[in-house]
Amino acid sequence: MSDASQPDADDEFPIDVFDDDPDFDLRPGSDSCYKCSTCDTNCPVAEVDDDFPGPKFQGPEQWRLKQRDDEHTVDASVMDCSNCMRCDEACPADVPLSQMHNAARGEYVDGMSKLSVTYWRNRLLANYRTSAFLASKAPRLANAAMNFGPARWLLEKTMGITSEREFPAFATETFREWWTRRGGADGSRRRAQERRAARGDPRDADKKVAYFHGCYANYNTTAVGKAMVRVFEQFGYEVVVPEQKCSGTPMFANGMLEDARRHAEVNVSSMADLVDQGYDAIASCTSCSMALRQEYPELFDIEGVDEVAAHTFEAVEYLRVHEDLRGALADAEIDGALAEEFAYHAPCHARNQGLERQAVELFRELDGVGVTDVGDSCSGISGTYGWKAEKYDTSMAIGDEMFDHMEAAEGQTGMTECPTCAMQMEHGTGYEVRHPLELLDAALVA
Ligand code: SF4
Ligand code: SF4
Repeated sequence: MSDASQPDADDEFPIDVFDDDPDFDLRPGSDSCYKCSTCDTNCPVAEVDDDFPGPKFQGPEQWRLKQRDDEHTVDASVMDCSNCMRCDEACPADVPLSQMHNAARGEYVDGMSKLSVTYWRNRLLANYRTSAFLASKAPRLANAAMNFGPARWLLEKTMGITSEREFPAFATETFREWWTRRGGADGSRRRAQERRAARGDPRDADKKVAYFHGCYANYNTTAVGKAMVRVFEQFGYEVVVPEQKCSGTPMFANGMLEDARRHAEVNVSSMADLVDQGYDAIASCTSCSMALRQEYPELFDIEGVDEVAAHTFEAVEYLRVHEDLRGALADAEIDGALAEEFAYHAPCHARNQGLERQAVELFRELDGVGVTDVGDSCSGISGTYGWKAEKYDTSMAIGDEMFDHMEAAEGQTGMTECPTCAMQMEHGTGYEVRHPLELLDAALVA
């Protein structure tokens, strides 16, 4: 495993967003903005924080200011954007708002004092994979220590990490440890071949996927990763789990573009080799699929990045396209713990990929289960955003609408594809929250 903490000698980052390099020229996008303010009215942060100037200012307006005055520095308010990317979806003129924000945030953070507590707090949060890797070496101890009241108080006072939230529990066995113990790719191939033979499925050569599990399914919600593997094998897919690092999502949100690029290089390299061999890349987290599909090609010139982006899918999306998932569910029965009424929240990054209705439509066919869409509001946590002490109140104010709708829905179990939205849903309502893959696993495999 390579060392993620060592920068490459030839790093060209951070990107100068205002560089006139034609490969990274955001000016045409900025010129497309006709100031309709639709992005501003769809921004969840601007809705609850009157001091936040909104996406139009963060993107096209800052760009224009810089074009006029080379000395213009990126406004600090870019750090108040949560990177939910709802403005991208809202803009009728296809202005690349989140690309502008990501790049501007990178430039702002490059100019920040590297001695400030805020910089190191953001760096710690953005590099969750490193903390989780260390915690996974002694998960029980880490779980006890991280949720010890005085430790949380101290983290808030010294680092600005809110003490209002409970830290997510680390699994006593990581997903990758489980995967290895279960036989890895060889075991998956054998199981998939058995299933294909049982199903009379002739598509041998096509049915192989590379799983991008991300940090959370590996260290915390391992049930999601296990469900993904079992469900894909059930449909006859051979699964491989390649070398991978964090998708970079928390790094983009914190302007840590050097870190994100280093991780993206590893991810693109391993996935590109597999895509060449006929694999598709599958993510169970909608922010991970978003990073591989949109943010990498927008921000990084890495060999193979476009091919990987074109072959990346969210797990349920992929199965809906390639398999008769609704038919399989119509014949399925579900009982036990997952025979529930679910309050479903579509993560903002699922909306950006057009996936916001899939869970609700899919599980309509499943006996014993009801799924209520709790509306189109943002959960408010946006990854690391809601973990910052100074952002906690904003995060909860954004989440209010979702909490109300969850409580108005039948049942007391939530459902979403995003692990940090799940964290916010649990925090705001006390509900247990499941991933759609867990329900598919319970209905089709278990
Ligand atoms: S990414 Fe989200 S928080 Fe940031 S400006 Fe756009 S809509 Fe607002
Ligand atoms: S929605 Fe698009 S066109 Fe309208 S103000 Fe925002 S960036 Fe400009």
